[in-house]
Amino acid sequence: NIRTRIAPSPTGFLHLGTARTALYSWAFARHHGGKFVLRIEDTDVARSTQDSVDQILQSMHWLGLDYDEGPIYQMQRLDRYQAVVDQMLAAGTAYRCYTTPAELDALREQQKARGEKTGYDGRWRPEPGKLLPEVPAGVQPVIRFRNPKDGEVRWNDLVKGEIVIANREFDDLIIQRADGVPTYNFAVVVDDWDMAITHVFRGDEHINNTPWQINIYQALGAKLPQFGHLPVILGDDGLKLSKRRGAVAVSNYEEAGYLPEAMLNYLARLGWSHGDDELFSREQLLAWFDGTHLNKSPAQWDAAKLTWVNAHYLKQADGDRLSALVLPHLAQRGWQVQADRLPAMCMLFKDRCSTVAELADELAMYFSPTVQASEPERAQHLSEAVRPALKALAARLEVAEWDKAAIQQALKDTLTEFKLKMPQLAMPVRVLVCGRAQTPSLDAVISLFDRKIVTDRLQSF
Ligand code: GLU
Repeated sequence: NIRTRIAPSPTGFLHLGTARTALYSWAFARHHGGKFVLRIEDTDVARSTQDSVDQILQSMHWLGLDYDEGPIYQMQRLDRYQAVVDQMLAAGTAYRCYTTPAELDALREQQKARGEKTGYDGRWRPEPGKLLPEVPAGVQPVIRFRNPKDGEVRWNDLVKGEIVIANREFDDLIIQRADGVPTYNFAVVVDDWDMAITHVFRGDEHINNTPWQINIYQALGAKLPQFGHLPVILGDDGLKLSKRRGAVAVSNYEEAGYLPEAMLNYLARLGWSHGDDELFSREQLLAWFDGTHLNKSPAQWDAAKLTWVNAHYLKQADGDRLSALVLPHLAQRGWQVQADRLPAMCMLFKDRCSTVAELADELAMYFSPTVQASEPERAQHLSEAVRPALKALAARLEVAEWDKAAIQQALKDTLTEFKLKMPQLAMPVRVLVCGRAQTPSLDAVISLFDRKIVTDRLQSF
């Protein structure tokens, strides 16, 4: 019975890397008919916020990563961690350590001066026949895990293959702070154990934590899950994707008008492959994602490819959906929108756009009170010679039926009257009415305007 989880720390937005890990964990569980759990790792009390939890939940919802259990908050499980700590103290696999922060600093300085690896020296670690220091008055102890000194930790990583690390690389880790709050490496084990997690996917920045965790599982007599450590995502500059150098929050992409199915497709492919397939549906992903073909090397963020994937899904979206998506973008630009013609407008312009935000820009001609073509466009297409034809067209449009066919007829009649070719009239009309020289078919574009806006703009020259 496959069970996976995502365990974000609520100290900010949902990062693209965490979203990808969530996506793989979710897809893996769904593929196998298992369960996917959401756990909020909020033990960093000073940095955790409800606002961040809300943002993470919202981004997961937007991506369609539905979970079967949770959100489970670690800070609501303190009693359980305490019980396990007590059990470990009794079993001798954990011990109280009274070393003060000042003593630890001094120790680190000495180790550095001697050119040694820094770390806890085990002064409070009980050993047969060893005399422990006297317990100082007024010091709240931390609890440390009694990590094995010898041997090695070995696991077969789902992504990286076999990993072996010697226990001597690891000091005795703090599992509970003096204030009673557990640390990440301990709480994560208790939780994954209690929640019967079978497969742990996470970023490879955690690889050095895994040996401690495996040793804690063993100290608890708990069954080990399988681990898969995913390589980082690099920015287009080859450095680790980070806030300073670009958008790294899922919500940034939602706001910029990317579609969730495009983001899901792009993120899935970033670090995993199914043959040469670049575009696939959610259903296909779930059918294919069995935890194999995960890349061992870092993925590179490719904004141009994401845009290409997004354009693909934008073309498939229908008018009602696009209207709903574009509305907030139009409102953000301060435009009044009557929604009745909006679906048709979206359908007419969507093929020219890669994002919903671009679509909103395309629709400026309909909603912005004024439009202004560039000077070169005006200079090229607007001349005294064409003015009478524009006036005549305006007069025809004043009285025409307001549909594509009638508008097309008005254009044609005007061409005949003034012996013009279509572009000689259509380009100036575009420049004046649409504020740009490139648009879809003019009769379709004009039919979606209010008549008065078109005639006013035609007469404005
Ligand atoms: N809270 C940890 C993180 O966000 C979870 C790591 C894990 O999945 O074990 O990095």
